[in-house]
Amino acid sequence: MKILVLNSGSSSLKFQLFLKDDLSVLASGLIEQIGDASSAAQLWFIDTSGIKQQRRQNDPVADHRAAIKVMSTMLQESGTLVDMGELAGIGHRVVHGGEAFQQPTFIDASVIAAIEELIPLAPLHNPANLMGIRVTMEHAPQTPQVAVFDTAFHQSIPEHAYLYALPYALYEQHKVRRYGFHGTSHSYVARQAALYLERPMEELHIITLHLGNGASAAAIKGGECIDTSMGMTPLEGLVMGTRCGDLDPAILFYLGRECGLDMAALDALLNKESGLKGICGENDMRTISEAAEQGDAPAKLALTIFCYRLKKYIGTYMAALGGVDCIVFTGGIGENSAIVRQLSCQGMERLGIVLDGEKNSMRQEEILEIQATGSQVSLLVIATDEEHEIASQTLQVII
Ligand code: AMP
Repeated sequence: MKILVLNSGSSSLKFQLFLKDDLSVLASGLIEQIGDASSAAQLWFIDTSGIKQQRRQNDPVADHRAAIKVMSTMLQESGTLVDMGELAGIGHRVVHGGEAFQQPTFIDASVIAAIEELIPLAPLHNPANLMGIRVTMEHAPQTPQVAVFDTAFHQSIPEHAYLYALPYALYEQHKVRRYGFHGTSHSYVARQAALYLERPMEELHIITLHLGNGASAAAIKGGECIDTSMGMTPLEGLVMGTRCGDLDPAILFYLGRECGLDMAALDALLNKESGLKGICGENDMRTISEAAEQGDAPAKLALTIFCYRLKKYIGTYMAALGGVDCIVFTGGIGENSAIVRQLSCQGMERLGIVLDGEKNSMRQEEILEIQATGSQVSLLVIATDEEHEIASQTLQVII
């Protein structure tokens, strides 16, 4: 039997097929620009001889229903999935589970209704996730389907850390609070870290840094998340590709008054035109690091601000945890940028964090250990695998 993991976006569908027994990957694919004439589907799969193959299809994919059909056909033609009857379960990534969902959850009509109710909290993501769930349920009505929420891992955060200092009624009536995101990634790398260190999760204090185009930090005590940097929305916290992260909220009133920016303009400014892009005009960390190395001043500034914010969060979470055993770097930047890891750990020797420059510049597929001998804190680079985590959580629900 097999497990299928789906990540349905507004105009894309990502999928990965796993063997149920050992969660090894049989195939993965991506359908982009759904609804557009330029849509394209790609599939990578392991053929019967164990060789990795790639297929591409450029026929227009009208909507998500058509995308599910294209996915099924491509999987069937690759020989990795004969029919939907081979699936023990389908796991769906759902961005916002609010306070309703603390665990991966078997999907039925009441769960769909609850995800729908949460749309105001994630107006861009939850509708797209729901669309994927609905068309898959039509396509494979007999297969158990499970929702795995980005927010669920952070539901263990205590009240004093998830509440904002706003009138309490806003929480009671409008659910204004910190939810946090990237939960599947934080929980996956934290577990991998404990396995690697050969220590029980229950005794570990871990800070996980998911640094991609979106970025967030989490403080994890004994396996439970006690704080995270993203808030009610993914805008809060670290500096990101195009999002500003933490900000004095009064800047919004000032910009409204002085520059005449309305809500939509402020939303676009903070979410799409800020962060690394706002500082240096570029949101790709690889390009920024290269430019910084060539002496480009705006790129250097963007890199410095990104790493300084990161360092402040490491310090904050060391205080929140009462000391840390291990810091994990993950995500496109965390896994690949030696300079970001170096700058964000620089000058923290008195806090027991000592990075080894040589180890930090090495590359490794799975887990790289980059602390210097004598560092009290383990520093690990761990490749995240959100699809694997969703497959594993799906399995827990359907067994
Ligand atoms: P993600 O959202 O996790 O896919 O991460 C995307 C970010 O990772 C982008 O800012 C990329 O520039 C960055 N990234 C990927 N590879 C590298 C690399 N070798 N060095 C620096 N940044 C990288």
